Amino acid sequence: VKIAVLKETRPHERRVALVPAVADKLIKLGAQVCMQSGAGEAVKLADAAFKNVVIESDPVALVGDADIVLAVQPPEAALIGAMKPGAILISFIYAHKEPALTKLLRDRGITCFAMELVPRITRAQAMDALSSQAALAGYYAALLGATHLARILPMMTTAVGSIRPARTLVMGLGVAGLQALATARRLGAMTEGYDVRPETKEQAESLGAKFVDTGVDARGAGGYARELTQEEKDKIAGVITRHIQNADIIITTAAIPGRPAPKLISKAQVEGMKAGSVIVDLAAEGGGNCEYTQPGETVQVGQVTIVGPLNVPSMLGEHASELYAKNQFNLIELFLKEGAVALDWSDEVVANTVLTHAGEIRNEAARKAIE
Ligand code: NAD
Repeated sequence: VKIAVLKETRPHERRVALVPAVADKLIKLGAQVCMQSGAGEAVKLADAAFKNVVIESDPVALVGDADIVLAVQPPEAALIGAMKPGAILISFIYAHKEPALTKLLRDRGITCFAMELVPRITRAQAMDALSSQAALAGYYAALLGATHLARILPMMTTAVGSIRPARTLVMGLGVAGLQALATARRLGAMTEGYDVRPETKEQAESLGAKFVDTGVDARGAGGYARELTQEEKDKIAGVITRHIQNADIIITTAAIPGRPAPKLISKAQVEGMKAGSVIVDLAAEGGGNCEYTQPGETVQVGQVTIVGPLNVPSMLGEHASELYAKNQFNLIELFLKEGAVALDWSDEVVANTVLTHAGEIRNEAARKAIE
């Protein structure tokens, strides 16, 4: 079995789908591992660091005879066109954003495992790249908040008096939000968290944060949140506005699967914030949780700074690549046995993660959106 690893080409993507330790493990599984030259460059992994990996400069030649192709972002159409029919592609796809590419995967007979489709179940945790990347993003969001603030986070006693600790409010307590809470707390901030899933109260409190209880329970399918009614939104606004006004840093991470990011902070709420405060909107990619967020930009609204970073995991490219490569390895291990591919469709992880196979779009949501 030949495994080919592509160099990422999308703007601002620094990650790579392979690190040397994972290459060694793939070779032990009986694979021949090939990588596009320079694939690890952006994270300071020189080709020479990949011992026993064949380096190939031409990506078309690289994928042309590969049985499994690994990438972080969806590969360019020309490369999918160059893959062997029946070969496997593993990368993030987000089919609803890539209808043409998804059809191409289908029509080329590629078996595509989309990393964003890995089910959020206990057994699949080690393959869950959404979680590994979100944890890094949550950590970094707290740092972005701290560095955009002209104040310190911890309490500090000095000869000329004491400085009070900064208040950090995290809105949306999934994987990223909990990591943001933990990081802000380690930096010395007073932390508060809020979510519409009541089980997050205990999780926030175990990280030393206060939970802002709005009395709204919007648990949806599969452990995710559902969209809120207008009545629920009003009820939340009545409670949360005061916490928004008191915050020095607000980190927002709220997402609802398949929907645009919910707006958690209105323009009026921003205008009521303390001068010098900072919002870091991790949902910027999906349009943002704040009405003033500009995806990819840092904007100033009055005296408030709003940071809307894109692809935050890529900013921590070394660790993001390491965790991502391990997630992919754990997935590959499910179907690469004794040097040969054996797909077991009765395995719920294999069955749920597949996007296209044998000329069909296998994921129902993607099929409905595209066909
Ligand atoms: P996500 O990125 O989809 O959303 C982030 C958070 O935003 C969620 O906690 C969600 O409840 C919250 N949110 C949505 N609308 C909101 C609103 N209007 N106001 C406030 N908060 C709002 O979440 P995620 O990090 O991908 O995690 C989602 C769920 O999946 C969680 O229950 C998590 O524990 C679970 N999970 C399970 C596993 C596993 O068991 N293997 C792995 C990862 C995540």
